[in-house]
Amino acid sequence: MTRKFRWTRMAAGLARFGVLVALGLLAGRFDASAQTPSAALPGVDPALLEDIVVGSRILADFGVLDGFGHVSARHPTNPNHFLMSRSLAPALVTADDIMEFDLDGNPVDARGRNVFLERFIHAEIYRARPDVMSVVHTHSPGVIPFSVSNVPLRAMYHNPSFLAVGVPVWDIRKDFGDTNMLVSNQAIGKSLASALSDKPVALMRGHGDVTVGPTVKMAVFRAYYTDVNAKLQAQALALGGEPNYLTPGEGVKADQTNFAVMDRIWNLWRLKILPTLAK
Ligand code: MN
Repeated sequence: MTRKFRWTRMAAGLARFGVLVALGLLAGRFDASAQTPSAALPGVDPALLEDIVVGSRILADFGVLDGFGHVSARHPTNPNHFLMSRSLAPALVTADDIMEFDLDGNPVDARGRNVFLERFIHAEIYRARPDVMSVVHTHSPGVIPFSVSNVPLRAMYHNPSFLAVGVPVWDIRKDFGDTNMLVSNQAIGKSLASALSDKPVALMRGHGDVTVGPTVKMAVFRAYYTDVNAKLQAQALALGGEPNYLTPGEGVKADQTNFAVMDRIWNLWRLKILPTLAK
């Protein structure tokens, strides 16, 4: 072995070691940011806060959320409270931005932070639906045409199978006449929760949608696939003919499978988002 070759091998080894150390430091920092308990929210598992952060950011990454919209979770130990970010674009949400609210939409400890005008969407759905542990509200572009059309949104394939039970369209004008279209008080929130009924998704006329689930992961998954389904359904309808949608029975079976394999897609989304949290 020549002297030059030995030095080259040593340099390559050092470079590999350096990369491993850098990766280790990065991984350690991500884990630390994910696991540090929140001083402002005692008793809340940092993993739940991370789910809200990952959900908010991945939906922004997909264009399902833009500067508006929000992801929330029911409080894990107080079912009469819920957790959501202060008023902030979803792509910017960190665990430190998440606040606690009661079901009247009042922040527990505002500390001067601005809150979302449409928090009543979340409050009134948590009040009406004990089974719901997470709520997502979006203005996703895909669903808007179906919110103003008389063509119902229907399940195109297995991932959005939760749509097969039917998708109500809530019209704010029915109860409240001409408004600015926002769910800005309790009465409007109750009207929306009533239209959602026992379903996983409701469209909001001229506004967007709301999706709910037994976990943050499921509510976020449903927000994403509702948007994907809407775009694909518009394509299928443009082909002409009569689309052969999933039946309600197929929908129930496929939704159970989606729930069982949720972590596979969630872990992918989490890996895409964690580097965006590095300080
Ligand atoms: Mn809105």
